[in-house]
Amino acid sequence: MRTEALAIQTSVEADPATRALARARARAFGEFVRQVPFAAALLDRDLALVAVSREWAAQGVSAGLAVGDDAAAGGLVAPGDVAALLACAEEGIAFSRYLPAVDKDGVQHVWRTEFSACRDGLEGAEETYAVMVTARDVTGYADSVLRAERDKQRLTMALELDELLVREYDLKTGEIYFSGAAPELQKYCAFDKDPLEIVHPEDRQRCADAVATRKLGEARVFEFRLNRDDGVETWVRSVGKVFVGQDGKPDKLVNLFKDITDRRRQTEAIETLAFKDSLTGLPNRALFQHRFQEAVTASETLGEMFGLIMIDVDHFKDINDTLGHDAGDALLKRLAGMLQHAFRAGDTVARLGGDEFAVILRGLHGEADMMRPIATLQELLRRPIEHAGRSFTASASIGAALHGDPDADPAHMIKNADIALYRAKEAGRNRSILFEPSMRSEVERRIELLRDVRAALTEDEFVLYYQPVVDIREGKVAGFEALMRWNHPEQGVLPPARFMAAFEDQDLSLKLGDVAFERALKQMRAWMDAGVEFGRVAVNISAAQFRSGRLAEEVQERLARWNVPCDRLTIEVTENVYMGWGSDLVSDTVRRLHKAGVMIALDDFGTGYASLANLRQFPIDRLKIDKSFVQNTEDEAIVKAVITLGSSMGMKVVAEGVEDAAQLKALEHYGCDQVQGYHFGRPMPADQVAAFLAGFTI
Ligand code: C2E
Ligand code: CA
Ligand code: CA
Repeated sequence: MRTEALAIQTSVEADPATRALARARARAFGEFVRQVPFAAALLDRDLALVAVSREWAAQGVSAGLAVGDDAAAGGLVAPGDVAALLACAEEGIAFSRYLPAVDKDGVQHVWRTEFSACRDGLEGAEETYAVMVTARDVTGYADSVLRAERDKQRLTMALELDELLVREYDLKTGEIYFSGAAPELQKYCAFDKDPLEIVHPEDRQRCADAVATRKLGEARVFEFRLNRDDGVETWVRSVGKVFVGQDGKPDKLVNLFKDITDRRRQTEAIETLAFKDSLTGLPNRALFQHRFQEAVTASETLGEMFGLIMIDVDHFKDINDTLGHDAGDALLKRLAGMLQHAFRAGDTVARLGGDEFAVILRGLHGEADMMRPIATLQELLRRPIEHAGRSFTASASIGAALHGDPDADPAHMIKNADIALYRAKEAGRNRSILFEPSMRSEVERRIELLRDVRAALTEDEFVLYYQPVVDIREGKVAGFEALMRWNHPEQGVLPPARFMAAFEDQDLSLKLGDVAFERALKQMRAWMDAGVEFGRVAVNISAAQFRSGRLAEEVQERLARWNVPCDRLTIEVTENVYMGWGSDLVSDTVRRLHKAGVMIALDDFGTGYASLANLRQFPIDRLKIDKSFVQNTEDEAIVKAVITLGSSMGMKVVAEGVEDAAQLKALEHYGCDQVQGYHFGRPMPADQVAAFLAGFTI
């Protein structure tokens, strides 16, 4: 039975999210505990077993205790010890006990188990998220220790077994006494005047700060490196307490020292596994987040200025696809090297995943401190990368953000750097951009819109409205143009102008294009089945839909699937699509569709840069004059010229945006074939089309 009362209490009562996070961390840490090369186990903050190492399982240290079981109920912790263990964990003090266990051959062993809290956070505000248990077989030795438990020798034995050193410093006489069994430690724990002399200079300030806040009679735990003249790194854990004499004045400082170098190395080894990216050896996203949090705290408490840089390799997917994954990996490793070269050793260079890297720069004095290494990096990036006898170059887009304003929220830094990165990509990649507050709103709105459109797609909120196209020579409805609308749950029916950015996004415009085709074809099928004479339906195509090179096949497959004849469909393509990227692909696609009987309309004619002459190579059946010309009487000559030119080239001309009888009359006079506009009908939902057709007169 486990109750909340048995769980580790933290100074601030943990909310469910914190507890869930602690559990997730414990689970992740458990992955690594499983792989450590010594007997170890991990408990979560409720003392349930999370994981054991292979050695632990093989030795049967806690045989009978399965993952998920309560360590107290399962005998790994004696019931009477639970409270003490939890108290120690809360204080960050290691707790040890002797654990008798019978191994698989029936031999009785005594294990010395040491419980230490895995803690996270800043000094003074750490939170325990798990408890690590290590076990050492002390079978022979422990007999005597156990016997000595109630003995006066107990302390000495324990000190010996634990290799603990006790130091008593007489504050009045300055004399120092040592006891215990750690002669090596003793050499470096003696001092002349100031107890802090024994602390490594780099750790000294931290310890001095902790000492300064220590109250009389209060025990404090420190972990620091010893100040050794031979430069050997030795980590010690020290518990220190000042005792008060008869006169009420401090008279003794007693410290207990333990060499924890090995344990720190083990912890470090485990952390390397948990926090290192295996391809590049750089810190991974988990460690990045940890370091970022540290930077945020330092900026909040000390007002320290820090910078954040996000780096994204340009066209990494193309490199992977064309040169292979090995080349991609080689590039990432090279980039990791360049980053380490360009930034200071104290900066955190991390790989967040894929081709995304990030750098945290602390203790900056200004913008220049961040821009300088970025310039170095860009210089390095210009050098070609050799891989498997080939050489290629890569570039990267870089977004940077600086936090110096004490009133701003440093937690926004990641978002800010992301926005700057986005700007760098948008501006043509291969560049770095520093975030400015003015960038936020516009880009944020765009990002938000794309996110909303994505959600609306899954909610099926996009529909088509149909606007009639009238043939003024024949006096009847020639067909309809399918125009997209967003049935927004809160804002009502939105026209494409409200989500234009989505049509410019490669991925979303493809999805919207799919929706338009599917809905239009389904509707045409339904009208045909119901005997509604709708003529042709025109569907608008965006540039992205041509990119795959399979548009012609896809359209024909869909027509076949819905059993709609090709000559019921028109596709509308703007001249910018013809003139833009991959126009060969576009011309090939429209040619095939045209051959199959799909009608091709050139949309918005006159607004782009194309002339009819250079559009000759494309099969065009319809020319749609943009409404801006139709509605502006000063452009009369242009309208006339386009109609004449179009018909001389064998194309029918459609005038868009016809709103009144006067416009209609003029167009008729110029010899225009078809018109579309509010004069005859606004775009309407599909279910109004049959009634519209039935009531139509010119
Ligand atoms: P567009 O292809 O030029 O469509 C004609 C636009 O003119 C439509 O705007 C239509 O409602 C509007 N219109 C028609 N007659 C009149 C009129 O008499 N007066 C005025 N002021 N406007 C008139 P809408 O529906 O807002 O669509 C805007 C643009 O969004 C379309 O321009 C088209 O480029 C794009 N679009 C709409 N649906 C789709 C789609 O399914 N796929 C793609 N790729 N683009 C679409
Ligand atoms: Ca159109
Ligand atoms: Ca148009």
